[in-house]
Amino acid sequence: MTDDINKILDNLSGLTLKEQAIKGQLPQSWHCRDCRRDTAPNCPNRSETEAAWANGFYPQMQFGPECEIYEVYDDIWKQTGLEPYNGCLCIGCLESRIGRELTPDDFPRNHPFNNMKCSERLLKRRKKTKFIG
Ligand SMILES: [Zn+2]
Repeated sequence: MTDDINKILDNLSGLTLKEQAIKGQLPQSWHCRDCRRDTAPNCPNRSETEAAWANGFYPQMQFGPECEIYEVYDDIWKQTGLEPYNGCLCIGCLESRIGRELTPDDFPRNHPFNNMKCSERLLKRRKKTKFIG
């Protein structure tokens, strides 16, 4: 299990944002749709990334204690009323949209985003997933 996660993390940390975007995992903006909080302060958004590419620069994602980047199961996201990858929600706003607190079972445990550095409250919600780094 831990080996699997490490393998995923190794793969992810080697990915440039261009490769992330190709996989359909880069939103237009990292700002929460509802409260405008920046859920990924050190990650360029899609436009910034495209501008960087134009200059031959391929930035990598940086995860820190302000980050609220995560993946929840499709049925949870569907309850928010948003299309997949059509905007971000911080944990607080996602929870008010679905009317309850998230629990560890709402997060796919093996998804790389669910094993990255993140905010205290996100860490509490996904507590079964192992915090690495
Ligand atoms: Zn929000």
